[in-house]
Amino acid sequence: MTASAPARRTITVLPGDGIGPEVVGATVRVLQAAGAPLDFENGVAGGEAFKKGIGSGVPRETLDSIERNRCVIKGPLATPIGKGEKSANVTLRKLFETYGNLRPVRELPGVPTVFAGRGVDLQIVRENIEDLYGGIEHMQSPGVAQSLKVVSKKGCEKIVQLAFEVARSEGRHKVTCATKANILKLSEGMLQRTFDEIAPEYPDITAEQMLVDNCAHQLVIAPEQFGVIVMTNMNGDILSDLASGLGGGLGFAPSANMGADCAIFEAVHGTAPAIAGQDKANPTAVLLSAVMMLRYLGLFDHANRVENAVLVTLESGVHTIDLARGKPAVGTTAFTDAIIANLGKKTDNWMVRSGTPLHFPPSITPAARVIARDRKVVGCDVFVEADTDAATIGPKVEAAIKGSALKLVLVDNRGTQVYPSTGSARTDAVDVWRCRFVRSDGQPVDDATILDLLARAATVAPWMHVEKLQVFDGVDGFTKAQGQS
Ligand code: NAD
Repeated sequence: MTASAPARRTITVLPGDGIGPEVVGATVRVLQAAGAPLDFENGVAGGEAFKKGIGSGVPRETLDSIERNRCVIKGPLATPIGKGEKSANVTLRKLFETYGNLRPVRELPGVPTVFAGRGVDLQIVRENIEDLYGGIEHMQSPGVAQSLKVVSKKGCEKIVQLAFEVARSEGRHKVTCATKANILKLSEGMLQRTFDEIAPEYPDITAEQMLVDNCAHQLVIAPEQFGVIVMTNMNGDILSDLASGLGGGLGFAPSANMGADCAIFEAVHGTAPAIAGQDKANPTAVLLSAVMMLRYLGLFDHANRVENAVLVTLESGVHTIDLARGKPAVGTTAFTDAIIANLGKKTDNWMVRSGTPLHFPPSITPAARVIARDRKVVGCDVFVEADTDAATIGPKVEAAIKGSALKLVLVDNRGTQVYPSTGSARTDAVDVWRCRFVRSDGQPVDDATILDLLARAATVAPWMHVEKLQVFDGVDGFTKAQGQS
């Protein structure tokens, strides 16, 4: 225990649905038995809130409790399917701007995995707000859907800083930035470039770039090579689930949703309705989430005490039914009792990763806007709907826009240039075409010129989406089409 007693903190506890009350109840018992200086304020979220007609799944009193306490331990929440209610989890993450999702994966004693004995111990840091998860989608025509992948400089800076700070606080020596920047040069590329800019501020940590597809491969081939992996939202979503399989699966996968001044700790698993209320659930994932919470609160001695007790219990062969695989199993309550009895014990074979306080640096980009010294609009992309073919669309649009200050430089279909012809007749076109227009004289393009162009283009093909082509400080703010020279 620390020399001076740490200040008491109040934590909001959301027991949640299904097995939630059992595994969260077990966790609170262990925290109390470990002497953590915490007070617990219970709140409602999920199923019970939906039953009361609260569409967001999170009542006002619960939001007030989180506002006050800024630290939450929660059980899984059920989202009724097809009834119009929102996910209470998403409500919480968005309301409290928990922009970083941490998913540690480590080998645990007695938990069989393909990689047992290799010392897997990594941390995935996933951006939690932006990317495709803004859910901005449109049907461009009845047969063509589009999702917007939104990645901001500010979002990249925050997640990269968090990744390095987590590495430093956990004594990890390497951070890998896994992106798809080879294809998505602007959005994924922004994370890649931001990582390169920030890495020199952490000279004590090795910074490594990797393509995310290779990262998936490497996670399965040699997961022990990784320390921290930072990713955009969707890549992180997929690879963190892959990674939880490296560590023994859902019953053992903890997580934290981190914001600048609020954090929500929860297991990765759901409500497991089939075993709810039967004293069968494995509380380890929530317990390990609580260990993350204790470290977040600077209660390192308590964190080590609880984590050591979990390790000793698992090593001694006391297992819940999900792990027993034919051997005798204990229930949630007896498993929790065993952990409490093991508080204060350590195993010689398994170490805890003790740490230092997590430091949140001030935002690098305080304003929401990143300012370019010089910017100009050089043209526009116009997405039109036309039931035509690659040979016809270009000349048709060129004829329609005669007299405009803009000229057609290319037409593509789902990103592949079809006009002027690149010599490939293989593009199996759909009915949405992107037409790229620029000014022949290189002068800036004003809105009136674009509106005039749209009126002309609409005479041959209805347009549904226009994007300005901008150049910021001499750098194109748009990509080329596949096949464009
Ligand atoms: P699930 O994680 O609840 O269950 C998947 C399988 O793992 C089941 O066989 C279950 O019995 C087992 N399992 C999960 N946790 C366990 C534990 N601690 N101990 C022993 N066995 C465990 O996933 P699901 O069935 O896809 O989802 C059920 C519900 O949970 C859905 O309503 C879903 O929306 C919700 N959910 C909530 C969260 C969350 O609140 N963070 C996360 C995932 C799913």
